[in-house]
Amino acid sequence: MHNSSMPTMINHEPKVLILYTGGTIGMVENPTTGAHEPLDFQHLASHVPEMNQLHVLVDTMQFEQPLDSSNIKPEHWQKMAEVVVENYDYYDGFVILHGTDTMAYSATALSFILQNLAKPVIFTGSQLPIGVLRTDGKENLITAIEIAAAHDRIGMPMVPEVCIFFQSYLFRGNRSKKFSAEQFNAFSSPNYPPIAEVGVHINYAHHYIRHAISTEKLTPCYNFDQNVVVLRLFPGISPSIVRSVLNIHGLRGLVLESFGTGNAMTDDWFIEELRSAVDRGLVIVNTSQCIGGGVEMSRYDTGNRLKNAGVIGGGEMTTEAVIVKLMFLLGQDYSHEKVCKLMNTNLAGELNEKSLQWKEINDSTTLL
Ligand code: ASP
Repeated sequence: MHNSSMPTMINHEPKVLILYTGGTIGMVENPTTGAHEPLDFQHLASHVPEMNQLHVLVDTMQFEQPLDSSNIKPEHWQKMAEVVVENYDYYDGFVILHGTDTMAYSATALSFILQNLAKPVIFTGSQLPIGVLRTDGKENLITAIEIAAAHDRIGMPMVPEVCIFFQSYLFRGNRSKKFSAEQFNAFSSPNYPPIAEVGVHINYAHHYIRHAISTEKLTPCYNFDQNVVVLRLFPGISPSIVRSVLNIHGLRGLVLESFGTGNAMTDDWFIEELRSAVDRGLVIVNTSQCIGGGVEMSRYDTGNRLKNAGVIGGGEMTTEAVIVKLMFLLGQDYSHEKVCKLMNTNLAGELNEKSLQWKEINDSTTLL
């Protein structure tokens, strides 16, 4: 299977491939238990005859075993990415139907896996099953297909990046988080504006869209290291808990969810535990418990001490992005210094600063 990288111009009826991985959008209610259970994907297509009115050729694929997204793991991120890679030359865009619970993690993972992506990969799902009268699934699906097929006046893909579309907004995938288990507008992107707003029209914010600068071919990079953990601080967290987490056998990365702009208690035992863990080679990344804003460790003494202990700031990345990025970087064959440096470097639009192209990352000796 070959795959070119250059965004191809669309001068035909656009072709979109839908991959159903599982989640509420393809579920029905079990009449006996009332629980939502996954259904064969045929059900989804038969419930949305409106798909035939789109001027888009749509093909569908599904996971053999549709998954509630709580069961999604790095091997499933790989399966999703492989579908994109293997079909890259035959479709203008991709829609991935996915449960909402871990959609932000999967979208983030694909944004790192699919290096040099130049076509749209649009995640969507729904809060209510597509077979239910008040479902939000139909609109989400139809609009996601339209976005995946959209091209500009010269025929180039409108949104050549991994995104999440939900209800009224198109967000960059690695900036998104699920913030509501109730509202139809279930996602937010606290530190990056929506890439498109959907009402009567789909209004794209062109200057927020990320275009592949590189003309290198699509290069998937699949490895993730699962030896990471999240430690959420709270007033009164005990030294023995912190010590046991930092000393987990085989642990390589720790995401520290701290307060405000990246602050934590200044107790000597805490700082010393962190410092010695960093000295042992653990990568510790500081992220904020706040939804909006980010980590600025130099702002207060409480943050500065973490910095001096060797903790890395996660900037304005979401906790989801920090976790997945840490797993991704540790999964590559990089030195400790390179992992730390790349944590603060924009790889796929997850951070506000100059992007590094995949080739630069691999060629760079300054990062070694
Ligand atoms: N538990 C479901 C899932 O994430 C919820 C949903 O689909 O929205 O798969």
